Amino acid sequence: FVDVALHLHFFQTCSTIYRWIRVSYICLFIYCFADTSVTHGDILPNFKRNADPCTARGCKWPKSGNHVYVPITISSVYSREEKNIIIRALLTFHESTCIRFMWRRPVISLCMSQVFLLPGPSEGKQRISLSRRGCLYEDTVQHEVLHALGFHHEQVRSDRDKYVYVLTQNIRSGFESNFEKEQTNNLRTPYDFDSIMQYSNKAFSKNGRPTMVARDNPSRLFGRAKTMSQNDIARVNALYCCE
Ligand SMILES: [Zn+2]
Repeated sequence: FVDVALHLHFFQTCSTIYRWIRVSYICLFIYCFADTSVTHGDILPNFKRNADPCTARGCKWPKSGNHVYVPITISSVYSREEKNIIIRALLTFHESTCIRFMWRRPVISLCMSQVFLLPGPSEGKQRISLSRRGCLYEDTVQHEVLHALGFHHEQVRSDRDKYVYVLTQNIRSGFESNFEKEQTNNLRTPYDFDSIMQYSNKAFSKNGRPTMVARDNPSRLFGRAKTMSQNDIARVNALYCCE
């Protein structure tokens, strides 16, 4: 299923690591999910673990040595190419953070029709859903994984009103909750318009006009990141990788 050398290496490394990591109930289950009831656009309702107060109470993924190992399985519904997109996006975390994804079990277990994220001592399942139409891009996978690691959208940061005007009159009816602030822990990182977690100016617009405007520069275009920003990476490192 993985034919690229790098991926094979990734798998072998993970299998080795897995032998000495305690069997965990935590697993990032990535599967194809077409229709979902969501809040904040793409966050499943029971998916609100964020760089917010719960991180201080132990909802973070656990660290083992210098790394945070997040077991994963990827649904067999994805094609090889689609799996490779997901794997490539996951590997970008290995390059820039202490997060390490590993196969939850030997490859046999990948022949599953569904995958779930089973979080910490467990209050149920959490899911990452990636529609095969429109979601299988590196930036989207990074974005969804950042949710799973505990991060909200940039525009709902606790301090966003200092940086963004939300134009409620332009928001499509029923989508207002996407702009409700969260009590986030911003980890001493600045508000970042280039964050992979930042939505675009016209997100959820009902009339083609902006729903968000940057306070410092009304003509600023944002929400166009194609990969994690330095701040996105810094936050993962601050939340999980600091000694
Ligand atoms: Zn999102």
